[in-house]
Amino acid sequence: MIMSLQNVALELLRLSVWFLLLLLLLGGAEMLFAAHKSKGLRPAYWQDIGYFFGNGLLFKLAVVPLLSISALALSFLVPGSLQNWAISLPVSMRALLGLFVGDIAYYFVHRAMHQVPGLWRFHAVHHSAVVLDWLVSARAHPFEIVFTRWISFVVLYVLGLARPQESGMADLSTLLIFAAGIVWGFFVHANVRWRFGPLEWLIATPAFHHWHHANEAEGQRDHNYAAMFPLIDRVFSTLHLPYTLPKRYGIDEAMEADVSGQLMHPFKRH
Ligand SMILES: [Zn+2]
Ligand SMILES: [Zn+2]
Repeated sequence: MIMSLQNVALELLRLSVWFLLLLLLLGGAEMLFAAHKSKGLRPAYWQDIGYFFGNGLLFKLAVVPLLSISALALSFLVPGSLQNWAISLPVSMRALLGLFVGDIAYYFVHRAMHQVPGLWRFHAVHHSAVVLDWLVSARAHPFEIVFTRWISFVVLYVLGLARPQESGMADLSTLLIFAAGIVWGFFVHANVRWRFGPLEWLIATPAFHHWHHANEAEGQRDHNYAAMFPLIDRVFSTLHLPYTLPKRYGIDEAMEADVSGQLMHPFKRH
């Protein structure tokens, strides 16, 4: 479970490749198709690079092993025949179903992060960004990463839609779910003015998630909780998708300017 130094170095290398790819694709798109005019490098940019690598390591170091252990411990909850049915599905079908079921779990845990005061204090770190771009996706308290990812994925592991790594071999549909979820998370934060017409009702887009970060009126953040499928918000009456983009992002409460203060934010008196 404990990563060797060599594995940590390998993971950092992998994260660096991801970072450069995302910077090239999404950073490039933001330069060409910006929704809000960039005023140069925003002050928290370097912090968010730190969150990118720190939380990326944490995901591999803590969330993945925790998932494997809890999936084994909780597998008795679901009949073996249901797990076997899920495992027998074609990879693409299992990945798609996994993304959808995982997003339903994420919807509820994300909604709880907003509505339970003790959980909001952790999630406030993510929402404290006043300028949105692709890298803001990485800006999250480590507890939020472990808690939300664990809940969203453990459901899939228990149902057989995703599987723990076995003898060094990762399951393809699990990798697809991880990769699609992470890449989509970065995409929906991107500062791009693209709109996708009727497709926006089918799949989350930057406009969908930008409205989740809006700070223009009371209760503005109480919608668009899903990560990928707006249909889930529609079913639970929390969808808000006008044809404009928000002008203001962030939160009203004070957030510490330094990372150590942000990490301690949930534990301070408010
Ligand atoms: Zn949120
Ligand atoms: Zn966000």
